[in-house]
Amino acid sequence: MLVLVLNCGSSSIKSQLLDLERGTVLAKGLLEKIGLPDCFFTYEPSGRETVSFPVEAKDHFSGLEVVTSALTHPAYGAVKDLKEIDAIGHRVVHGGEKFSNAVLITDEVMEVVEECAALAPLHNPANIMGIRACKRFMPDTPQVAVFDTAFHQTIPKHIFLYALPYEYYSKYKLRRYGFHGTSHQYVAQKAAEMLDRPLEELRLITCHLGNGSSVTAVKNGCSLDTSMGFTPLEGLVMGTRTGDIDPAIALFLMEKEGLSTQEVDDLFNKKSGFLGLSGLSNDVRDLRAAAAKGHKRARIALEVYPYRVKKRIGSYAAAMGGVDAIVFTAGIGENDPQMRADICAGLEFLGVDIDPRKNKATRGKAGDISTESAKVRVLVIPTNEELMIARETKRVVEAAK
Ligand code: ADP
Repeated sequence: MLVLVLNCGSSSIKSQLLDLERGTVLAKGLLEKIGLPDCFFTYEPSGRETVSFPVEAKDHFSGLEVVTSALTHPAYGAVKDLKEIDAIGHRVVHGGEKFSNAVLITDEVMEVVEECAALAPLHNPANIMGIRACKRFMPDTPQVAVFDTAFHQTIPKHIFLYALPYEYYSKYKLRRYGFHGTSHQYVAQKAAEMLDRPLEELRLITCHLGNGSSVTAVKNGCSLDTSMGFTPLEGLVMGTRTGDIDPAIALFLMEKEGLSTQEVDDLFNKKSGFLGLSGLSNDVRDLRAAAAKGHKRARIALEVYPYRVKKRIGSYAAAMGGVDAIVFTAGIGENDPQMRADICAGLEFLGVDIDPRKNKATRGKAGDISTESAKVRVLVIPTNEELMIARETKRVVEAAK
């Protein structure tokens, strides 16, 4: 089965065409800066040279035209006709409380996804535009929505509720949702394979540490708790997001600095985290280079981050009554042995014991970095959200036949 996976952001379209029977990626595409004069497309056909060129794409419709033209291009296309593509899987950020699984997109589903846009105004509208564009270009191809929030719908009520007056939950569905669900689910499944144990028996703590970061407690295969909340702002320190802060800080800054709600939103989401602490960059690689040269704020940012992750791991071990394995994934989790070491230092009381040599040698590939005798396994597992979305798409399309 050929599945086209699309991740439509507000100004970008990431695409991957996968052949699930062969287990191969036929082509990858990245269209950036939709709606801007310097809109650019990069297309990587499998086994052939990458092509990249400026394009004119004023919206997601013209954007998808660029993507589909590349996929069927006589010189570097992956298919002769778009009809060869069996299904399309969309990453949809917010499924609210309605979706605890991937679903076939129908008019009724679209209505609910549109309702959920109120909860994710930055993300869902772009996802919706992508779905509509596909309907125009590939009207007969089944489309599936795979939600970032779905995996976390197993989180029990006493964990997802905020201690606000209950009517705000009833009225606005104000609660914790959690994100990165597709990634947490994928690495949890992989961890069970690596440990050669049924996922249903395991207590896992999955750490998705990228530009956006979150930790999830996965008990018996289900999400029990996760660090992101009503929005992706809650939880860990991130590239440009604050993570947990005292909500009174918003009011304080509005008063002292005369900030508007939009400015506070911008400050917390785009100017904080690694960038705000260091005043330098949101990228850990830049901070490591600066810290090595004595940059004090880069150094402190690199201390704040692992402490917060460690604290979450401790609290989730408590929530699950123990932990069998900790999993590191995404840009930082897969590639930064120092960060993994800093996070694990002090967790020996839980049974964590990483082998420095194995840790150092594991970058961008899967591996168990714990010592032979460690009670808690520490695994590095590269995430693959596209593959997970493609598999979910296949499952949903086949079940609907
Ligand atoms: P996104 O959330 O955008 O998908 P990624 O999972 O790709 O993010 O992670 C991107 C981040 O990973 C970068 O901003 C950088 O901080 C970090 N990163 C990537 N490679 C390395 C590396 N070799 N060493 C340290 N950090 C890295």
